[in-house]
This record gives sequence, structure tokens and C-alpha cells, in this order.
Amino acid sequence: MDKYDILIVGAGVAGMTAAVYGLRAKKSVAILEKAAVGGQILQTTKLDNYPGLPGISGVELAEKLRGQVKQFGGHFVSAEVVSIEKKEDADSKGSSFVVATDDEPIEAKSIIIANGSKERKLGLENEERLIGHGVSYCATCDGALFKDKDVLVYGGGNTAAYSVLYLAGICRKVYWMFRKPAPRAEKHLVETIEEKENVEIMKSSVVTHLEGQDKLERVDYHGEADESMSVSGIFVLIGREPDNERFKNLVELDETGHIVSDETCTTRTLGVFCAGDTRAKKLNQIVTATADGAVAASGAIEYLNKLNK
Ligand SMILES: Cc1cc2nc3c(=O)[nH]c(=O)nc-3n(C[C@H](O)[C@H](O)[C@H](O)COP(=O)(O)OP(=O)(O)OC[C@H]3O[C@@H](n4cnc5c(N)ncnc54)[C@H](O)[C@@H]3O)c2cc1C
Repeated sequence: MDKYDILIVGAGVAGMTAAVYGLRAKKSVAILEKAAVGGQILQTTKLDNYPGLPGISGVELAEKLRGQVKQFGGHFVSAEVVSIEKKEDADSKGSSFVVATDDEPIEAKSIIIANGSKERKLGLENEERLIGHGVSYCATCDGALFKDKDVLVYGGGNTAAYSVLYLAGICRKVYWMFRKPAPRAEKHLVETIEEKENVEIMKSSVVTHLEGQDKLERVDYHGEADESMSVSGIFVLIGREPDNERFKNLVELDETGHIVSDETCTTRTLGVFCAGDTRAKKLNQIVTATADGAVAASGAIEYLNKLNK
């Protein structure tokens, strides 16, 4: 079984920053990533609030970070972490962790959980079956598949609003539907959307059913009455939630499922740290995720150095 000083769950900005710090302190580091290196930032076409790099795209930032991790000798492993077990280590003062994945298990002396968050689903019948066949959670990832088609964007926040604008440049018609009488998105975004000729705004409406055999054919919703529309795609953008059930025996979770840690990104389990959107904290942004990554790594480095004394 491979063994690393630091094993990081998730190659988002938090995980990759943690890796850079760990590697520069001469620790062996592996990052396990179940999907694409970069995480959520891959969905962002233009970042305007990351200090020093105005206008950089999420893909470009992810690529720069990936290069930095590789440059210092970091090891990316394409696998999903299924569970993490702590066991007392006979030949060291601390514990070691056995990380079970959907591939080979890996051993590590310390862990940084940086698994971000996952898209909130509608929880409707047929939703899972139609993912990739008309149901999507990411406009920038899948929008090109709906060129000149009619699509529905569901959700009233900024991510949904940005997605409406993005899709309006690709699709024939974009319906923007949200539950409340007014969207939560910033005013300037809403105003820009209102000027788009191929966007129709549908307030106070709730999606109730998705229909389609091999692909999405119809969306039922409740607005003023029970109604239906034919669209080729629905982009469900109703927020994100943590995915930490699998770690509940290792770390403490709060009532929303986020990992409880202190200012130093230390969890209740010695040797286990957390970083980024997975942590219970106020502001989920790139700048706070990268800061967490640095703090969590410095905690892991300190922990490892004490083990070796
Ligand atoms: C559309 C959109 C626009 C945004 N715009 C901005 C913006 O303009 N400015 C800003 O500052 N922030 C923005 N954000 C928020 C910002 O992107 C996030 O706060 C930040 O990227 C979180 O980084 P992270 O590393 O904590 O998590 P993530 O980016 O979610 O990365 C976690 C990684 O872990 C992987 N993973 C999860 N579970 C496992 C597992 N069990 N095993 C292995 N791998 C796993 C995931 O596949 C993912 O790659 C935006 C977010 C979205 C969705």
C-alpha cells in the first residue's frame, strides 16, 4: 500500500494550495480527486475578485495551481475517497490513516479533507436517470450541448443568473425560473438579463416533475397553476451542500453537514485537518479556500514534525 505524509481529499483550490504548502515543507503529498482537477472554479468563466489576478478564468487558475503542485513533486491520484479509518501506528508516536477509495487503498500519516461541496438536487423522480440527458448542474460545463435549443435555468441566485447570461449566448431561448417573487441575484445581473430578448423570466414557480425516456422532454411546474413546458435541458442551480456523511465517524459535523474545525482548520481528530467549502465558516470563496489550504497544511506539517521528534 502506498504511504504518504499528507493525503488530501479533493483537488479544488483548497486541496491544491494545501499540497503546495506541504510539498514545500518537504512532505510527501498525494491528492485524491474523483472528478476534474480544479473543482468548482472550473465552472467560472471569469474571476473578478481573486486578488491580483482580475479577469482570470477558473480553468486557467486551476491549470496554474495544478502546474505548481506538479512542480514541487505532488502526486495526483484519480480516485474517490469512500472512507477513512484511523489506526494506532506501532512504529510512530501518532496514528496512521487507511484511506479506502473506489480503487486501491492508500495509507497516510495525516489527512486534509478539502472535498468542497456538491450541487443540491431537486430530489424529483427521473432526475438522476436524466443527468447527462438534459439534466445538468453546470452551464459552463454543458451549455454547448444545447446550442440553438430551448432550456430552463432553475434557481434565483447569482450562479443561476450568470448561467442565464451564459446560455442566452448559446441557446435559442432561455427560461429563468425561481420560487420566490423576486430573484436573489445581484441587481446588475438581473437588469442585464431583463434586456435579453431570448430570455423569459418566470417568477414564483416551482418545478414539480421531469419527464423523458432517453432524454428530457418535458418539465412540469407550478406557477399560477399546474403547467408544463417542452425544453431540451434544465440547469438546476439551487445551491450547494457538503458531502461529508462518509466522514462522520472521523470528524464532527455541524447541523448542515459541514466539518467543525477551529481557526487553524484542525478537526476533533488528531492528524486530520480540513480546508475550503467543506468547513463550517461564513464565506465560501476562492480566497478563503486557498487560505484554509495554507492553514490546514501548516497544521499538518507541525503535527508531522512533532511525530518525528
Ligand atoms: C458557478 C460558481 C461561480 C463561482 N464564482 C466565484 C467567484 O467569482 N469568486 C470566488 O471567490 N468564488 C466563486 N465561487 C466559489 C468558489 O469556487 C469556491 O468557494 C471554491 O472553489 C471552493 O474550493 P474548494 O477547494 O473548497 O472546493 P471544490 O472546488 O468544491 O473542490 C473540491 C474537490 O474535491 C473533489 N471531491 C469531492 N469529494 C471527493 C471524494 N470523496 N474523493 C475525491 N475527491 C472528492 C471534488 O470533485 C472537487 O474537485 C463560485 C462557485 C461556483 C459554483
